[in-house]
Amino acid sequence: MARESFSIAGIEVAPGSTATASLPLPKLNSHTELNMPVHVVHGKTAGPTLFVSAAVHGDELNGVEICQRLLEYSSLKRLRGTLLVIPVVNVYGMIHQTRYLPDRRDLNRTFPGSETGSLAGRLASLFMREIVARSTHGIDLHTGAVLRSNLPQIRANLEDPATAEFARAFGVPVMLNSPLRDGSLREAAASHNVISLLYEAGEALRYDEIAIRAGYHGVIQAMRHIGMLRASKTSRRTVDPFVARTSSWIRAPESGMVRETVPLGRQVAKGDVLGHISDPYSSYQVSIVSPYRGIVIGRSESPITHEGEAMFHIARFGTDVDEVEETVDSFQQTHSDEIPDEPD
Ligand SMILES: [Zn+2]
Repeated sequence: MARESFSIAGIEVAPGSTATASLPLPKLNSHTELNMPVHVVHGKTAGPTLFVSAAVHGDELNGVEICQRLLEYSSLKRLRGTLLVIPVVNVYGMIHQTRYLPDRRDLNRTFPGSETGSLAGRLASLFMREIVARSTHGIDLHTGAVLRSNLPQIRANLEDPATAEFARAFGVPVMLNSPLRDGSLREAAASHNVISLLYEAGEALRYDEIAIRAGYHGVIQAMRHIGMLRASKTSRRTVDPFVARTSSWIRAPESGMVRETVPLGRQVAKGDVLGHISDPYSSYQVSIVSPYRGIVIGRSESPITHEGEAMFHIARFGTDVDEVEETVDSFQQTHSDEIPDEPD
């Protein structure tokens, strides 16, 4: 039986073809029309429907570039199922280079939203109706905040076996079991039985090549896992991820200037110095000390801090931390090498 075409926003996408649909959004206050572009790749043969979304937080841009590279991937010609790519969900935020919407709301705390609700709620509701409700799987791409960077990591509800397998297939070294967060896209997707995960890597308003490459390869590996793309011919070794037991932020003990900090991916032991905070007006200096053993998975990139500010995000593991650090090292090396970017 021939596959039906995929209809969205008034267009029909025939099997074996691609198209870009525009979901109409509330206008800007300058009366400028606005829409959310959705790239549709509708495979010839039936299979899962995966959405890949980025910039739900308008200043988180690594995912926008991941989407662009994904759409250029030549093997999409042989796609099974349907791929929906939304490079910029929070169009308003991106225009203003901010995480939020013009109503100061965080879109990722507003799902599932409502058609008659706030601006954020209306955007969330549109996304649920047009994208999530028609998907079987979802990958939402994020970065750290402004001046805050993240080691590439997956956050997902790992207690759900199908989600855990999907997350593992993405193939980044560190995974955090993150219970569903109230109002998040992930939570709303789960209520529609959509298997979804969140990829976090790099920093807001900045492209990070390792984060982009790792995310691009991760999406493709996850697509292979659910049969949307054929398995790779060559057997490039995939990463076996480690699940963090817990994680928490170490805060600045004082206000001042930040010096000599440890990088992302570094193993730290209890009592290790993570960096120093100095007083620019005297020779006074205090150390930021790790209260436990773990891996640095997030850090502040700002040279200035105030007492109480989150400085280092340390993940703790049940397994040998040496092993985690080695895996992170070789993972970063793989993605920083001058290799052709098209996955094998
Ligand atoms: Zn985000």
